[in-house]
Amino acid sequence: MNLSKLSSLLQAEPKYRFVQVNKAVWQDFISSWQEVSSLPKNLREKLDAECPLAITAEIDKNTSKNKSVKALITLADGESIETVLIRQKDKRNTVCVSSQVGCALACEFCATGTFGFRRNLKAEEIVEQVIFWSRYLKAEKKNEKVDNIVFMGMGEPFLNYNEFIKAAKFLNNPETLNIGARRMSVSTAGITEGIKKLAGEKMQINLAISLHASNDNLRRDIMPIAQKYNLHEIFKTVDNYITKTGRRVMFEYLMMKDVNDSDKDALELVKLMKKPLYMVNLIPYNPTGRFRASNRERIEKFKKILEENGVAVTVRLSFGADISAACGQLRGRKK
Ligand code: SAH
Repeated sequence: MNLSKLSSLLQAEPKYRFVQVNKAVWQDFISSWQEVSSLPKNLREKLDAECPLAITAEIDKNTSKNKSVKALITLADGESIETVLIRQKDKRNTVCVSSQVGCALACEFCATGTFGFRRNLKAEEIVEQVIFWSRYLKAEKKNEKVDNIVFMGMGEPFLNYNEFIKAAKFLNNPETLNIGARRMSVSTAGITEGIKKLAGEKMQINLAISLHASNDNLRRDIMPIAQKYNLHEIFKTVDNYITKTGRRVMFEYLMMKDVNDSDKDALELVKLMKKPLYMVNLIPYNPTGRFRASNRERIEKFKKILEENGVAVTVRLSFGADISAACGQLRGRKK
């Protein structure tokens, strides 16, 4: 899909063509210009030649029958990125998008980290992932659409801030997909510059922080980026974000066996999290590298300790486990 020439191609056309074309692409999710019968034939042909709508993607066959479906999209330069459609019981559909090809952060537990950083995605390439799933849902004819977006795929969104926010604003635009900002969440490993920028946006996008450890020592062991941003600095920035926006912040905590899942870890986490508008999301780990997942009972016990000490806590439904949805696993398998 490449719409970079769209505006110049439509320049000579009457104004209402823009409206027609925008609706066709961003609301009707056409995959060929031939579908827009209201456009003159010669314009349709020109658009097909110069503004191709096709998206090159492969659905992971192992996942196509599951609640969550994963796809690998091949970009114009041959790079590939993962995106996941997460289907919830209430017919809500969440799309998880990648923001970079690969990732520079090399977190020890993350599959994406193992291929290193390739490049930033353009906003269009982030949006393309949502369009892909919108077309997929349309083809099923069940009257479902993409309801939520999580910027939790490959990459660190706040190291590609401008394109991330451009994509979010585009998806939010009533003339395109009209997805409410409150239905979008962005997750960061703690890049404080990005948290500060997000606090200054008018959009009410939800913020999540990948915490994964209750002290700097352990965090530095498993997340090299923690050498640059320590917990004190992250919490200071988050507190300013909360003062400015009045919004809740979710702290993601991967449950890894014998790494960060003891009662002592839970009690240490309590001390950090006992603040208004802080909440913890425990994530069942999807084993990809040298770490193992905590079992159910351990997660429940950990959760109980947080609850008993007044910390708001939820356990993420493990939508990824059945499909290797941990970011980077599919691309990893294919390479
Ligand atoms: N770079 C951003 C966003 C991408 S990762 C960040 O760090 O937040 C999105 C979430 O998936 C993060 O919380 C990340 O720690 C988590 N994650 C990474 N590998 C995982 C795995 N194998 N199983 C479960 N969650 C994983």
